[in-house]
Amino acid sequence: MTAKLIDGKAIAERTRAGVKALADEIKARHGITPGLHVVLVGDDPASKVYVGSKEKMAAKAGFNSVVHRLPATTGEGELLALIDRLNRDEAVDGILVQLPLPRPLNADRVIDAIDPDKDVDGFHLINVGRLSAGRAALVPCTPQGSMILIRSVLPSLAGRHAVVIGRSAIVGKPMAQLLLNADCTVTIAHSKTADLPGLCRTADILVAAVGRPHFVRGDWVKPGAVVIDVGINRLEDGRLVGDVDTEAAMASAGAITPVPGGVGPMTIACLLQNTAMAALYRRGLPLPAVIA
Ligand code: NDP
Repeated sequence: MTAKLIDGKAIAERTRAGVKALADEIKARHGITPGLHVVLVGDDPASKVYVGSKEKMAAKAGFNSVVHRLPATTGEGELLALIDRLNRDEAVDGILVQLPLPRPLNADRVIDAIDPDKDVDGFHLINVGRLSAGRAALVPCTPQGSMILIRSVLPSLAGRHAVVIGRSAIVGKPMAQLLLNADCTVTIAHSKTADLPGLCRTADILVAAVGRPHFVRGDWVKPGAVVIDVGINRLEDGRLVGDVDTEAAMASAGAITPVPGGVGPMTIACLLQNTAMAALYRRGLPLPAVIA
């Protein structure tokens, strides 16, 4: 069997087009332009690139797209004062603080200060709680995008065994929660898991969020499984690769996401989706069932 490649670029483009259509409708019906405010502290080169893409894509979706660029020396009080101002500003629907923050800023305290209904990254404890309680929540963008990719090849998830490698608050845990909410039977694996290859061979859906190049071997993949490679790893020769040995895994997987061009493009698309949803939800306006 040769796996189908899941085209994250094309699916993200469709999702973004759906968000743009929704933003146009929100404007026409309610006179509101969704506003996304991104806060970037310091000069981390990767963060600058991510923020630049978010700014551009938000503007393309028809949002009011604003970036607050602050020096690395910004104090916690100053940053919290900005967040407080954005929380109280009616024109702001989404607030995202780009992580990691330079030391000694405390990311937890900063995220905790964001109004949960504007927390478009879905990292606030209230949104974590809402997701785990199965309530309407702003959901972290990478796992949300991964779910869209899984559903594109596997419409019915009930009863499937999903194995998620990685238990971070940003990817692994919310990913597992979303799969559980979709009626999968979920196993979360981590660095202390025994017989990881054997466990992976039982997965109908295998999600790798580890941060190690080519960590998942081809013979760990159950025949026909859907493999979602969240990892983004830069090799010494400059190449970008995922956590899965894609070429080897393609021999047994049913469908697999490439790196680049798989999960990566979905993250910003889902950030835009969250912002449009927040613009409606905050005002008690009806939400669309699906955007794209
Ligand atoms: P973290 O470093 O926070 O988490 C990595 C997880 O992998 C941990 O739970 C860790 O286990 C687990 N792990 C590490 N080594 C092993 C091992 N030998 N066996 C089993 N599990 C192991 O990373 P993130 O969750 O933030 O990110 C994961 C990857 O996803 C990275 O490559 C990152 O760049 C990428 N990423 C991609 C995004 C995108 O838009 N596509 C967005 C966010 C992240 P333990 O908890 O026991 O230490």
